Amino acid sequence: MTKDKEWDHKENLYIEPCACNYNCGQYILFMKGDRTHFRNAPENEFISTASLSVGDMFDLHENLSEKLDIECQRMDLEELLDKNDLPAE
Ligand SMILES: [Zn+2]
Repeated sequence: MTKDKEWDHKENLYIEPCACNYNCGQYILFMKGDRTHFRNAPENEFISTASLSVGDMFDLHENLSEKLDIECQRMDLEELLDKNDLPAE
């Protein structure tokens, strides 16, 4: 994962409306096989992994936001520690 403008945010996963979204209102989360916990999933193929309602996507968003806040704080702390790196004794 990189932060350039060319960052492909759908390299390992993406979400598409279900084929019958007009009826079911669901979205499908596709993930590369090696990211799933499915046994024998083909590594580089996108696997239909979960059905998400709009409510589920809001929940997912909140969950991600919670975890990413923690990760950002950790990265900021690490950067701060790197800047204040004490010389080895
Ligand atoms: Zn559907």
